[in-house]
Amino acid sequence: MLEIDRLTFSYDGGDTGFAFDMRIGPGEIAGLVGPSGAGKSTLFDLIAGFLEPISGDIALSGRSILGQPPEDRPVSILFQSDNLFDHLSTGANVALGLGSAARATDERVTEALAQMGLSAMIGRRAAQLSGGQKQRVALARTLLRNRPVLLLDEPFTGLDNQTAAPIRDLVRHMVRANNWHAIVVSHQSQDIETMADSTYRIENGRTKLI
Ligand code: ADP
Repeated sequence: MLEIDRLTFSYDGGDTGFAFDMRIGPGEIAGLVGPSGAGKSTLFDLIAGFLEPISGDIALSGRSILGQPPEDRPVSILFQSDNLFDHLSTGANVALGLGSAARATDERVTEALAQMGLSAMIGRRAAQLSGGQKQRVALARTLLRNRPVLLLDEPFTGLDNQTAAPIRDLVRHMVRANNWHAIVVSHQSQDIETMADSTYRIENGRTKLI
């Protein structure tokens, strides 16, 4: 279980603060919705360790992860944009999910790209990809990291429904098969409806189970 337990945070130390509470079981996806500026990225930054909460806890399987620096946290995160190194090949970008020593020819990389429908792009520099292709490359790398907590911020941006549908299924399948604890932010109600086991909305700085 991933427990976000009475987690509070404020950017200015004042009263315009946030209070987050969520429970996500192994193999489950929580959808996270709310208007722009609601605090979705703030919550991801707290879980990933880029921000420090004022109080509360984030625990995985009963153990707090708050004391761990970002690089040691059991977390894979896909940001909304700017996820790739433009000068590296598609394959090299995906291989980074396996660690800095991994090769672009690693069969886990070729398989991940095949699952995204991007086998032909393996040698192409990221700068030469379309927005939707970049998004899939970044998602492939995030999934390859294989960490217990998976945070996806608008993972299907720039993808038409025909492209997005099998990728939603793939993410759903991988979360279940690996017992990851996932949070997916999306403005597309279809993403939430097809993927989420539970849905939270951030309103007035607070998470509400809906
Ligand atoms: P969302 O991801 O839901 O669009 P954010 O978490 O990015 O929302 O932002 C939540 C609120 O916090 C917004 O009002 C935003 O202006 C504010 N905010 C975000 N980052 C900072 C920051 N670094 N310093 C001060 N305020 C910030």
